[in-house]
Amino acid sequence: MSTTATGVTTIPHFLGGAETPGSGTRTQPVFNPATGEQTGELRLADATDLQTAVANAKEAARTWGDTSLAKRTAVLFAFRELVASHIDELAALITAEHGKVLGDAKGEISRGLEVVEFACGIPQLLKGAYSDQASTGVDVFSYRQPLGVVAGITPFNFPVMVPLWMAPVAIATGNTFILKPSERDPSPSLLLAKLWKQAGLPDGVFQVLHGDKETVDGLLTHPDIDGISFVGSTPIARHVHDTATAHGKRVQALGGAKNHAIVLPDADLDHAADHLTAAAFGSAGERCMAISVAVAVGPVADDLVGKVAERAEAVKVAEGTEPDAEMGPVITDAARQRMAGIVGSAADAGADVVVDGRGFTVPGKENGFWFGPTVVDKVLTDMDAYTEEIFGPVLSVVRVETVEEAIELINANPYGNGTAIFTSSGANARAFHRGVNVGMIGVNVPIPVPVAYHSFGGWKNSLFGDKHIYGEEGVSFYTRGKVVTQRWPQPTHASDASFHFPSN
Ligand code: NAD
Repeated sequence: MSTTATGVTTIPHFLGGAETPGSGTRTQPVFNPATGEQTGELRLADATDLQTAVANAKEAARTWGDTSLAKRTAVLFAFRELVASHIDELAALITAEHGKVLGDAKGEISRGLEVVEFACGIPQLLKGAYSDQASTGVDVFSYRQPLGVVAGITPFNFPVMVPLWMAPVAIATGNTFILKPSERDPSPSLLLAKLWKQAGLPDGVFQVLHGDKETVDGLLTHPDIDGISFVGSTPIARHVHDTATAHGKRVQALGGAKNHAIVLPDADLDHAADHLTAAAFGSAGERCMAISVAVAVGPVADDLVGKVAERAEAVKVAEGTEPDAEMGPVITDAARQRMAGIVGSAADAGADVVVDGRGFTVPGKENGFWFGPTVVDKVLTDMDAYTEEIFGPVLSVVRVETVEEAIELINANPYGNGTAIFTSSGANARAFHRGVNVGMIGVNVPIPVPVAYHSFGGWKNSLFGDKHIYGEEGVSFYTRGKVVTQRWPQPTHASDASFHFPSN
């Protein structure tokens, strides 16, 4: 990295074990969303940089895939310690380019570390299976091998956690990994690369290649890449899935979301309002598991909206480095303008904007990309506020009469990432989690991101491909199975070869 006289840092790639500016001439500005100032200039890869990254990864895969489990896990354990001891530095980089508050940035690093810890146990997960004497004198065993070179393409909203959903499992299972981070907050990925190297990972096993659509499309079509993990918006997830599978690759592409939380009349309304507020406005609503729709069932609506509005107005919005900040800015000015347009169109269509974050600003930081917590009540399903993924601090409230109606609403929505129910009834909770067509469900838990030993993934337009990310499905995604049927005949045995199909 180098810094110009105006304080703008040039952000390089990390290829073959070292930072490099690469040969690409295109660049993209990186901003601090809290001040609106450009802080970085990102080098975007060209075709030569892409070839270099893939060639390094292919070469490194030959030895890394053959490295003992003991040596691979030693690197993972060391990496775990290094990430934990650099948590402040990593969090500062996240806050500077993403804008989320420091405590939240540390939270995402901790959730990423869980996956590193899961991957430390990879020998247990790769043990395979053995059937002794499957037929007379014949044993059968199965085991898994790495795919080879895999790439991870990640979104802006979790610049450390989402890469850590992928790389530790890919690397522990013996693959080499090329990370194409979001171009909006690319710096934390470079620190991760340095920590991997410090942990003893051989050069070329983890690389960072910066770029935009051009680089992504180069990765999706490159013949030497065997697998693609993608996390981002639904239109791009669909494009990634369709393009990469057409080029013979294994793909898991996680897309966008519109997560509903239903609140039943038997719920503890204060508990529900506290959690809805945190889940809607934490990280400025820029989480794929944020609650963006509150579904008020029956008579709770007025009370619930009142309680959520009171809490929304009390959220402390400030630069993420402020010790008491609860919510920072949104990622870009364009995102802010889009959110304002959607809230305005809901108001024009008859919804009630109960708390209005449009025009919000932080004194002294007027050029930051601010948007205050917003609550829009009486949203109907044909309004943009319902049909669009807003991806900002906007909570839409939809009113329904029954639990059945709430479940139908959720199932009619094209997304199926996460959902939650607030209730004190086990029977209602059970009917809910069994009835919704959604991948991750919370019962009195608003953001049910699975722990690392369960896998993460949505249904419908929230996931293209059939393997969820991390956990055992992640191990399965990054490996191919082999089954060996073996016999060791005694030299004296008469031949038992047969022209019939083998049977037992
Ligand atoms: P995005 O889709 O704009 O970008 C994601 C990645 O795709 C980036 O690396 C970007 O460089 C690349 N990209 C962007 N446009 C492209 C194009 N036209 N062709 C090829 N590649 C392209 O997403 P974002 O704005 O960075 O992140 C927010 C989105 O990610 C939201 O929709 C959110 O719901 C989703 N998300 C989903 C999950 C999940 O687990 N399902 C998790 C986090 C974020």
